[in-house]
Amino acid sequence: MHELSLAQALIDQVKLLLKEHNANKVLRISVEIGPFSGIVIDSFEFGYYALIKEEPSFIDSKLEIITPPALYQCVFCGRKFKEDELTKDKRCPFCKDSFLTPVGDGDILLKEVEME
Ligand SMILES: [Zn+2]
Repeated sequence: MHELSLAQALIDQVKLLLKEHNANKVLRISVEIGPFSGIVIDSFEFGYYALIKEEPSFIDSKLEIITPPALYQCVFCGRKFKEDELTKDKRCPFCKDSFLTPVGDGDILLKEVEME
């Protein structure tokens, strides 16, 4: 399960932050998951809460997941826009070109960690 290893990677990353800040408890983790990442949010969340059962410093933490709106970039003019800005026939709203690529296919971006 891909999501489980991603959740584990997130926990490992936050553990390093805990050490760095001499903290011992995680209260809240906020992550951004790209709309084209292919990550199943529910599975990721489930994996996270399953894994932290074994992690005393994470046990009461809350995972917040932000999913930014899908963005596209026009190959022709280079501008970026949201899905609902596309023309009716799915073209660039600026130059009406139809070669568009999705933006934001990165995996998981750690935005904020609250700890004590
Ligand atoms: Zn364009």
